Amino acid sequence: MKVKVLSPQVAAKIAAGEVVERPASVVKELLENALDAGAGQITVETKGGGLESIRLTDDGSGIASEDVETAFGRYATSKITSVEDLDAIATLGFRGEALASIAAVAQVDVTTSVEEGVVGDLLTLKDGLVVRHVPQARPHGTTITVKDLFRNVPARLKFLKSTATENSHIAGVVSQYALAYPEVKFALNIDGRTTLQTAGSGKLIDVVIAVYGVDTARRMLEVNGGEVGWQAGQAVPITVTGMAAAPTLNKAGREALSFFVNRRVIGSRLLTRAVEEAYQGLLMQGRHPIVVINISLPPSEVDVNIHPTKAEVKFQNERAVFTAVQRAVRSALVTTAPVPQIEEAQKPYTGQAAVGPRSLWQSSNYQPGAVPLPEPAQTPRLTLPVLRVIGQVGGNYIIAEGPDGLYVIDQHAAHERIMYEQLTAQKASRGIQLQGMLEPYSFEVTPQQDEILKSESGSLRQFGFTVEPFGERTYLVRTIPSVLKDGDWLAALREILDNPRDKITNVEDDIIKSLACHSAVRAGKVLSDDEMRELIRQLEQAKLPNTCPHGRPTILHLSVRQLEKEFGRI
Ligand code: ADP
Ligand code: MG
Repeated sequence: MKVKVLSPQVAAKIAAGEVVERPASVVKELLENALDAGAGQITVETKGGGLESIRLTDDGSGIASEDVETAFGRYATSKITSVEDLDAIATLGFRGEALASIAAVAQVDVTTSVEEGVVGDLLTLKDGLVVRHVPQARPHGTTITVKDLFRNVPARLKFLKSTATENSHIAGVVSQYALAYPEVKFALNIDGRTTLQTAGSGKLIDVVIAVYGVDTARRMLEVNGGEVGWQAGQAVPITVTGMAAAPTLNKAGREALSFFVNRRVIGSRLLTRAVEEAYQGLLMQGRHPIVVINISLPPSEVDVNIHPTKAEVKFQNERAVFTAVQRAVRSALVTTAPVPQIEEAQKPYTGQAAVGPRSLWQSSNYQPGAVPLPEPAQTPRLTLPVLRVIGQVGGNYIIAEGPDGLYVIDQHAAHERIMYEQLTAQKASRGIQLQGMLEPYSFEVTPQQDEILKSESGSLRQFGFTVEPFGERTYLVRTIPSVLKDGDWLAALREILDNPRDKITNVEDDIIKSLACHSAVRAGKVLSDDEMRELIRQLEQAKLPNTCPHGRPTILHLSVRQLEKEFGRI
């Protein structure tokens, strides 16, 4: 076979494939350009999942007449000039590839003007070539219209999903940038419907309302923290700001984790792990939080030039960034986690009760400022007041009276929380207390459990289980954690062996959760008054009394006021 150099058209399409994977990639690149141009208002309009057309209008700096054709060439950028500039990139773009890539796979129209009163330009490109360039007046800013995306790249078209899927990717990208730039007014219009509109007020909470709705916004806690990392003897300030949802509000997937590094939207396993660690013990397994996290650090501390679509970054000092994020989020959760209250959900929102998140998300006439804004993070962490036990209901719910109404406590969940905190403290100080078996107990394991036991029997001992091999896939248990002496220790041990051991989960914490769950009083157990009183006394001492280690609520509060409302007295 003969080696040939590809024609420029084919080469351009291949190169474009790296940057422009789907319609949402076009939206992302155009948004980044508009933001780099200092836009205060950005409107995105799409049709047919972005394949028919994508139009982005900004009121940014515009492109000068003499530069506009150049801007569509490959490696044409106004943002960096030298290799050294790559060390500290302060703009979202820097490669000069986006416009060229988009023009290679679509038809593009641009109108742009640098200032009021100066006649602007209209430029049309087909197959990457300029076919028209004429003067055209317009207010300062830029409008780029991208039509017939991928029409000349059938291979790419084949891989696109339904219009609805592409629309959701587009909405995702615009939402992310809206969250990253609360001071910019964003509007997204999909097939003639305004699906997102932000106020540009500069307040993150306003954007959270627009993206996630009022109900979610009201349960967001403010994150405000930072660390000083050290790099080659130099102090490196890292600040972490944003919002994190109370643990009772959570999602099945990780789609509501938003990370911005120096205001660039990125995905990051490191940061995901830092956040998950912060929520450790507060969320049910398999559930994920809602967070918006801004990390600011000197541009030289982060390499943004490691990924084709700039979707990931590399930190010089990963450990410091991880710790900063983990601590900032954790402290927001620990100092402000509220006791869930029935009343909370029905508190009148100054006449706005009818405005639910849906209508906000969909309505095109969302007036910034019309919705009274929830003050984030004003709910102080409520330690339990002194409670008087009234009795038990359904074999699992302790009913108690407090200074302000009725408290219902899930006995298993509450005890699980107590045991979890006690065991965590025990592990950290003297180690988990163990108890010898009168006679060793032999039990059989699956091949998978066998592998785990072979490699982890040493560490299991730290949790009170002394397990020795005793023939083919059979083991002898000699000691168990003493908290499980009246519980189903074998079920706990099997659960521990079956826990996932991927990099994301914290194996030790999972073990403690299993011990807590199996040593906690069961649902269905009848408790004496004394036992109930003791349980509540211990719950009052817990650091995070409001949720069990899996994130389920432990306490429900019904205030006197709420009772009076329910009975029609007020
Ligand atoms: P990059 O953003 O990496 O510089 P692009 O291909 O995305 O490369 O854009 C090329 C250049 O065109 C930019 O450097 C900028 O000078 C100019 N440009 C693109 N979009 C806009 C815009 N919306 N407003 C002002 N200038 C723009
Ligand atoms: Mg760009």
